Amino acid sequence: MSLLKSGTNQMPMFKTDTLIIGGGLAGLSAAKALEGKKNYLLAERSPRPGGLAVTVGKGGFLFDYSGHLLHLRWPRTKALILAALKGNCVTVRRDARIYAHKSWTPYPFQVNLSGMPDRVKSECVRGFLKAYAPKLQSSAPGLQPLALSLQPEVFSRWTKRVFGEGISRHFMLPYNAKLWQYPLERLTTEWCGPFVPLPKPEEVLQGAYGRRRDGLGYNSVFHYPKRGGIGALADALAAGAGGLRLGLEVESVNLKKREAVIRHFGPVSFRRLINTSPLNEFIARTKDAPDKVKRAAAKLRCNTVYVLNLGARGVRSNMHWGYFPEARFPFYRAGIATNFSKKLAPNGCATFYIEIATDGRALDLARAETEVLKDLKACGLIKTSGQVIEKLWLKISCAYVIYNQERVAALPVIFDWLKANKTVSVGRYGAWKYSFMEESIKEGLEAAEKTLT
Ligand SMILES: Cc1cc2nc3c(=O)[nH]c(=O)nc-3n(C[C@H](O)[C@H](O)[C@H](O)COP(=O)(O)OP(=O)(O)OC[C@H]3O[C@@H](n4cnc5c(N)ncnc54)[C@H](O)[C@@H]3O)c2cc1C
Repeated sequence: MSLLKSGTNQMPMFKTDTLIIGGGLAGLSAAKALEGKKNYLLAERSPRPGGLAVTVGKGGFLFDYSGHLLHLRWPRTKALILAALKGNCVTVRRDARIYAHKSWTPYPFQVNLSGMPDRVKSECVRGFLKAYAPKLQSSAPGLQPLALSLQPEVFSRWTKRVFGEGISRHFMLPYNAKLWQYPLERLTTEWCGPFVPLPKPEEVLQGAYGRRRDGLGYNSVFHYPKRGGIGALADALAAGAGGLRLGLEVESVNLKKREAVIRHFGPVSFRRLINTSPLNEFIARTKDAPDKVKRAAAKLRCNTVYVLNLGARGVRSNMHWGYFPEARFPFYRAGIATNFSKKLAPNGCATFYIEIATDGRALDLARAETEVLKDLKACGLIKTSGQVIEKLWLKISCAYVIYNQERVAALPVIFDWLKANKTVSVGRYGAWKYSFMEESIKEGLEAAEKTLT
């Protein structure tokens, strides 16, 4: 890196080969790939590295930005993550449940109807068989009749087509309405593939009238740091990132000139750029983006998630997390993080994470808190509010990107222009998709490695 004089304002111009915007897991992994090979500047605006994968301490408790569990599916990134954690990692078999109709049943709902009242179970099984039968007859031998269609389809129609009326009415529709905070008649289904398990008919029937089914879905086994919360992973990656600078916010970029301006730092000239900040914000900060690219980026939508973290005494449940489809609960998911890492709380205590989504509107925190405590008692996770001894609200302004037709139309416009201007944008928000930590790490690594060839 070298300091030059910029032509315009006489502030010193910082020169680097690669500018990485954002020190979450994607940015940190890009830095890892470049370390010792190319000089780079990794600008992270917050005072801590890790982005959404940080852990915050309060009153002797450690809280993540909601449950952040490692689902490791690719050998290379799995090896990298486990090596970074240096043994500070446990492997856990999921205990996830659903609370509906005043009953608990194991997750996934569609293959664990046995916990539901008979009336609900019959409605779900009947609906599933009705939806399934015609497809079975019409599908070619060897084809999976429940498979996602190739074209994006709207969620409300897809779920009824695939799971039938009952499962849709009692779980898929109310749960997803609460999570996405977006009309399900406009939500498209490209995200469903890895995240919504598609059962065979025998699995639905066995789950309704026979044995519990555990192993279905992407998250049936997960990894998590033994100590330090998920932030331990980000801290481990950050420790090796010589070019990481905290508290540096990239204010604007000009892709043609290959220059950026960083607040309280000054102008930076770069040869290559890897963005991991939210795509819509990045384009808004890009001075030379044409109007049509700016208009496309302005159409991208996301929801907001508020996480109420609680430290509590005397919690008896062994569950890792539970899904709450019913509208009477303001939260869509509640987890007990100490059931996968005891070290997150003092001895004898537990930590809860309770997730409430909005469409961006501010949440009335005091009211939400009262409701949450009442509801945790209603479903039996705590007995009295007096058990709760610590709390911390965390807000994720951009949490789940919304899959809709506008996104389908906007992304090619934006990415074609970025590609023409030799810029990559990766990570959950850089790529503007529903992804997970391992994928952010993979994309960060690969984006940086491409610049080395
Ligand atoms: C509620 C919720 C639960 C989740 N649970 C899981 C889970 O259990 N397992 C899992 O694998 N994944 C989970 N995820 C997804 C996971 O959080 C992400 O995939 C991953 O952490 C994203 O990393 P990233 O680096 O792509 O983005 P981020 O973590 O968002 O990092 C981007 C970084 O860019 C920085 N930045 C933004 N703008 C600028 C700027 N102008 N200048 C400088 N820096 C900037 C931000 O401060 C941030 O640090 C969850 C996500 C949510 C919302």
